[in-house]
Amino acid sequence: MKLVFATNNLHKLQEINHLLDGSFQLLCLKDIDCNDEIPENQDTLEGNAAEKSFYIWNKYGLNCFADDTGLEIEALNGEPGVYSARYAGEQRNANDNMNLVLAKLDKIKNRKARFRTVVSLVIDGHEIQFEGVVNGHILEEKRGTTGFGYDPIFQPDESDLCFAEMSMSEKNKISHRGRAVQKLVEYLLKLENK
Ligand code: IMP
Repeated sequence: MKLVFATNNLHKLQEINHLLDGSFQLLCLKDIDCNDEIPENQDTLEGNAAEKSFYIWNKYGLNCFADDTGLEIEALNGEPGVYSARYAGEQRNANDNMNLVLAKLDKIKNRKARFRTVVSLVIDGHEIQFEGVVNGHILEEKRGTTGFGYDPIFQPDESDLCFAEMSMSEKNKISHRGRAVQKLVEYLLKLENK
């Protein structure tokens, strides 16, 4: 089955292709000649994910899925949450975002945080959502060199390593997106076998 993943983020594409293990022909926005700035105007992860997947369905009539992820920090009342990409400003710079988080958590003992991903799948115009969560904490300083975004400052409860110290397959096994996509894949495989 052909499926559009509404992203051009190469890290995410690689991560998800790895999980799908060749079961689907995954297309990204470039593959369908979509150069649009896809709107993300909602104030929830659920709303943004649906806005993106329906944008592709409505414009191209192609089955697709979109994801939206937020880092939710307990001591910051769930910030940066839906604003994770642009927490430190519209330049959407990962280092600036991490520095802001570290500054806001300076001297704060409660470092509990979680990543949450919502995937919105649209098949023939019908939507279903899948959620993935990983609990962990924010480090005192950056570590590691792999991954992207907040990976150097987030350590999941299941590991002594932070995300940026893990290989992609180690991260996929326990990550928010890995868990959401696992649910997506199980659903798609059931659909194909019906
Ligand atoms: P998006 O909705 O997946 O684009 O994610 C929004 C923002 O959350 C990204 O710009 C990253 O800063 C951050 N983010 C999403 N997924 C991850 C991840 O797996 N590791 C670290 N940061 C992430």
